[in-house]
Amino acid sequence: MNNLRIGIGFDIHRLVPGRKLMLGGVDIPYEKGALGHSDADVVLHALIDALLGAAGAPDIGELFPDTDPQYKGIPGAFLLQKTLDILKKKNVQIQNIDIIILIEKPKILPFKAAIRAKLCGLTGLQEDCVGLKAKTMEGLGDIGAGNAVACQCSVLARKL
Ligand code: MG
Repeated sequence: MNNLRIGIGFDIHRLVPGRKLMLGGVDIPYEKGALGHSDADVVLHALIDALLGAAGAPDIGELFPDTDPQYKGIPGAFLLQKTLDILKKKNVQIQNIDIIILIEKPKILPFKAAIRAKLCGLTGLQEDCVGLKAKTMEGLGDIGAGNAVACQCSVLARKL
């Protein structure tokens, strides 16, 4: 099957006042932001885990533990670059990625183009290889109440 590899990733962080809301490396203006040891970018964290899964590598929590002071406030983009280095060493090439952001507010539509452009820049993928969707939870659960943001990501890769 042409050495195809699939990967899935998921991440969730609490939304609290006084933090930045980073999604896919883009700073989204909002009254709340994502709480975490790092920059708490759920999009990049889910993407990283999907990529690591496709490469058969350990997950984000094992490689970049949140108990390690060197990862305090670390940008997701930096961790993604380290992940891409791992894939390169393993000769694993990304084919396409598909992402769903789960968030009640703010509306993500006005920022989608910027997030996709950032993801293309970070991964080197063409725009038609980066899917990006945002959904609300219809008011259900913690995400629906505006207390959390989550992200799911699928990746198709190929071992060269
Ligand atoms: Mg995370």
